[in-house]
Amino acid sequence: MALPNLLTGLFSGTESASADSTQDGASVDSTPSVVHECRNCGLTVDARTTRCPSCSHDQIVDYPVD
Ligand SMILES: [Zn+2]
Repeated sequence: MALPNLLTGLFSGTESASADSTQDGASVDSTPSVVHECRNCGLTVDARTTRCPSCSHDQIVDYPVD
């Protein structure tokens, strides 16, 4: 009758150990400082994009993000 106790111990141990620190580090690294958006439809595009791939509008606006 020792097997059920062993399994529950394993699950609760691994869940709280390594989930927190890895998520925070990755999100900070991948967050851009400036967001580029189509002025017409609001689609987020790449920094080099000069024409919206969705609606073909040619005005891209830059929004600084802190
Ligand atoms: Zn657009």
